[in-house]
Amino acid sequence: EPIIEFDGFSYQYRVQTSPSLVDIDLKIYEGEKVLILGPSGSGKSTLAHCLNGMAPYFYPGTATGSLKIGGAETKGLDLFRLSDRVGTVLQDPDGQFVGLSVAEDIAFRMENDAVPQSEMIARVKEAAAEAGMLEHLEASPHSLSGGQKQRVTVAGVISSGAPVLLFDEPLANLDPDAGRRAIERIDRIHKETGKTILIIEHRLEEVLHRDVDRIIVISDGRIVADLNPDELLTSS
Ligand code: ADP
Ligand code: ADP
Repeated sequence: EPIIEFDGFSYQYRVQTSPSLVDIDLKIYEGEKVLILGPSGSGKSTLAHCLNGMAPYFYPGTATGSLKIGGAETKGLDLFRLSDRVGTVLQDPDGQFVGLSVAEDIAFRMENDAVPQSEMIARVKEAAAEAGMLEHLEASPHSLSGGQKQRVTVAGVISSGAPVLLFDEPLANLDPDAGRRAIERIDRIHKETGKTILIIEHRLEEVLHRDVDRIIVISDGRIVADLNPDELLTSS
C-alpha cells in the first residue's frame, strides 16, 4: 500500500482559468526518498501544498480526483490533520516560525497534539540536541543562520512524528557548504528514521549527484518523467 497516492488528481486555484495540476497519477511508497524536479511555475509547490494542507480545498471544484495519504482521502481534512502526516520544511523558514524562542518553536506542533508537559520538555531537548541547537534553545529563531534555521524547523517537524517529510528547495537560502551539510543531514535523517522524504528542486544542477530513489519531473502541471537514477546511469 503506497503512503501517498494521487489518482487522476487535478487542482485549480479559484483565481486561475486553467488547472495548476493536471490528472496526476503517482504512488509513493513508505521510506522512499523522492526528488520532485521541475522549472519555476510547473506546479511543484501546488503539489506540495496539496499534500500538506496549505492549498485550500474548501472551494468547490478546486481539487478533483483522489489524493490519499496513509490510505485516507485528503479532501475534507484540515491543515492540522494534514501537517501531522506531511511535515514541511519551507524554503524560507522565517515564514514558518511560530515560537518566540527555538524551544517554543520546536514544541509548537507537540502542543497542538496535546503531548504532556514533561514528555514535551524531554522531546524538545532531544530534538534540539540532535540538531546541534541545545545552546540556542532560548534564542529567537529569526536571529539564527540559514542552516540553523533549517535545523530548528527540521527538529520541530521530526519530533511531531509526521511519517512524510517534505523539503521545499532546501538549499535555496544556504551557501554551498551549508547546502552540502543540509543534504548530508537529510540523507542521515532518511537512514535513521526510515521516513518517506520528498525534496522539491527547480535547478537540474542541484539534483546531480544526489542520492535519491526516484526523480519525478513535472512540467506544466503534469508528470513528464518518473526516473530511477540507477537505471538512468546504467542504461547510458
Ligand atoms: P512551482 O512551485 O513549480 O514554481 P507553482 O505550483 O507555484 O509552481 O505554480 C503553478 C501554477 O499555479 C502557476 O501558474 C502559478 O501561477 C499558479 N499558482 C501557484 N500558487 C498560486 C496561488 N496561490 N494562487 C493562484 N495561482 C497560483
Ligand atoms: P550554517 O553555516 O548556515 O549554520 P549548518 O547548518 O551547516 O549551516 O551549521 C553550521 C555548523 O553548525 C556546522 O559546521 C557544525 O559545526 C554545527 N552543526 C550542524 N549540525 C550540527 C549537529 N547536528 N550537531 C552539532 N553541531 C552541528
